[in-house]
Amino acid sequence: MLMGNHTIQINENGHLFFAGMDTVMLAEKYGTPAYIYDVSIIRNNCRAFINAFKKQQVAFQVAYASKAFSTIAMMQVAKQEGMSIDVVSEAELYTALQANFPVERIHMHGNNKSESELEMAIENHIGCIVIDNFHEITLLECLLEKHDCQMDVLIRVTPGIESKTHAYIMTGNEDSKFGFSLKNGQAERALLQLQHHERIKLKGLHCHIGSQIFEADRFILAAEVLYGYLQSWYEKHGFIAEVLNLGGGFGIRYTSDDHPIPIPVYVEEIVKALKQYWQEAAFPFPEIWIEPGRSIVGEAGITLYTVGAMKDIPDIRKYVAVDGGMADNIRPALYGAEYECIVANNADQNDREVVSIAGKCCESGDMLMKDISLPTLKPGDVLAVLSTGAYGYSMASHYNRFANPPVVFIENGVDQLVVRRETYQDVVRNDLIYRSINRDD
Ligand SMILES: *Cc1c(COP(=O)(O)O)cnc(C)c1O
Repeated sequence: MLMGNHTIQINENGHLFFAGMDTVMLAEKYGTPAYIYDVSIIRNNCRAFINAFKKQQVAFQVAYASKAFSTIAMMQVAKQEGMSIDVVSEAELYTALQANFPVERIHMHGNNKSESELEMAIENHIGCIVIDNFHEITLLECLLEKHDCQMDVLIRVTPGIESKTHAYIMTGNEDSKFGFSLKNGQAERALLQLQHHERIKLKGLHCHIGSQIFEADRFILAAEVLYGYLQSWYEKHGFIAEVLNLGGGFGIRYTSDDHPIPIPVYVEEIVKALKQYWQEAAFPFPEIWIEPGRSIVGEAGITLYTVGAMKDIPDIRKYVAVDGGMADNIRPALYGAEYECIVANNADQNDREVVSIAGKCCESGDMLMKDISLPTLKPGDVLAVLSTGAYGYSMASHYNRFANPPVVFIENGVDQLVVRRETYQDVVRNDLIYRSINRDD
């Protein structure tokens, strides 16, 4: 089988089964494109992180980075599994509130939080704000004064670690729009500004070194850098971090070239290293927070498409177009992300040809997969692209005014629509008729 995913199977008539259900039947029932999730994989990933921390017997929070896939249904599952969550906007916070997510386990991120975003966080008494810059400190001070209340915060710092990943998703290095630099002293200045603040309660530090990271040692390296600063800030300023948040970015398997280590191994290696650093510390071991996004939902989702036009350009390339593309999955166009797929109605066929899967948006760059080997395709075939559960739906656009596909959850052999397919009327629902002067057409 192409993927190691245990919920992918092929039945006797060559149909791809996902989460125990016939994907060809799902394509007929919900239409294509459609995002399909195996909820058991989501739950297993949440539990893998949480149980690994429990085993290490440390205080922790596992905050799902909801930007990876934010819907009310997903927030319900995260809540049921005892996760915390990260939000980055009013609408992500609203989504969590709509799911009755416990507010004390909601953390807010963002490099340019607006006054109304911060105010919404304050009014709803969320658990923590991760402060990104000096402007935000001033804003937050004003708003907390206005509302006469306090807020727990972490300060986001850049440890100067370059994770081996694509530059666009590399965020822990010095030259970043996110966070306070440790090296140039800005993080320390922020610390001194907040250390004995009457309203802003500084709980600790946050860093996020990047995404799709395959080794624990990148996180350990970041933790080592932070530990060094915590040591010096303890000696110089008596500062004790109650929380150390090491961010997200745990790698997943998009293609057979990706070899992530298992979730429990990340956690075990990171916590063990932290315990070692703290062995000689004069200050107590902090609560450890992490923020997995794609590693919770990425492999839990697939996207179903229907094959349409095909174009064979001799000696160049064979294009096979599907009924979706960069509007429902922008990652290949945005940063060259790679995926694998299975012909859902013909999954066991052995004759192979090399084709490129094109989207239907008006951009030459709208290619979902380039030069991949697949069974011979024909119009009407159903294509299942694997590991699309993270940053697919959440990054979907209305480019070419395509309506966003539906989201279907499957659990215990039952499929349930959790986001309905948009209609073209939905797409224009906020458009207003322009009444220009002196014209009545
Ligand atoms: C994006 C992001 C995450 C999640 O990243 P993944 O690669 O999806 O795990 C976690 N924390 C912060 C601050 C982020 O920006």
